[in-house]
Amino acid sequence: MSLVNETVFDVNDIKPKELDETIHRLHKEFSGKTKLRNICPACSSDEYKHAFDKYKFHYVECCNCKSLYIQNTIELDDYIKYSKELEDNIYSGEKYKKYLEELARNKSSNLELTASRFLNKNTKLKVAYMGSKAKVFQVALSNFDTEFDIIDDNCSITGSYDFIIMDHYMEKVLDLKQLMTTVHKSLNSNGYLYISSRVGSGIDILTLWEETKLYPLEHQNLLSVDGIKIMLNTIGFNIKGLNTPGTLDVDNILNSKSSNIPRFLNYLASFDKENALEDFRVFIQKNLLSSFATIIAQKG
Ligand SMILES: [Zn+2]
Repeated sequence: MSLVNETVFDVNDIKPKELDETIHRLHKEFSGKTKLRNICPACSSDEYKHAFDKYKFHYVECCNCKSLYIQNTIELDDYIKYSKELEDNIYSGEKYKKYLEELARNKSSNLELTASRFLNKNTKLKVAYMGSKAKVFQVALSNFDTEFDIIDDNCSITGSYDFIIMDHYMEKVLDLKQLMTTVHKSLNSNGYLYISSRVGSGIDILTLWEETKLYPLEHQNLLSVDGIKIMLNTIGFNIKGLNTPGTLDVDNILNSKSSNIPRFLNYLASFDKENALEDFRVFIQKNLLSSFATIIAQKG
């Protein structure tokens, strides 16, 4: 497990307000069409307790691995409709081009580092990309000889790949276990899986709780670090690296308008205690306590 010391910028800093409103509207439209799930997507425990509500969706916390997940999700057909509207409103066209490019560039730097460590530059690699920023990730792998497939938003990955990238994809799927089993099957023996995901055990989510900037349909599964380990090991992956390289959790808390900001953090941030605050950020990174994780795992 190595520590990648990089700054992961906060998408909320540059997320256009209008984009926020569109996602709110879609959540309202789809919140009535519910389907219940009472099993932890990470460890399959059926013991949970209520965590918080967000836009009429109920987050629960698994009593075993502390992952967070929404209990009242929507049917797959509705999810496909939701994704299509999101795509039409946000991801296609020029409107948010700059925002999306900046977002993707930032996220792909970690992939570039990881790929150079684990992948072979001398053979042709079959790569599958699951997410919404394919082009930038393709650029991140431009030093490799790749055949690059982009997987649709409906979990239907088939084939045999040397490298599969799940870019903020794990958070939004209805049946995570089924997806991960399919992903495992779709990897060649000793193939690698790269995941970027928000994690529910991050300090800002645990502190801000219902005030965290989250979209339940985009973040149906907010696995804890332990939950991620349990899930990947159960399915048959060997984890080769797990980092939480985010450095902005503390700033997210301090910059929020929450009334729950711990007095301790405010104290740390004041009176010229900048070094102490920096040490605290490093402590969070080092102990996997930030709410953004990157994982590299090999098919066992
Ligand atoms: Zn669990």
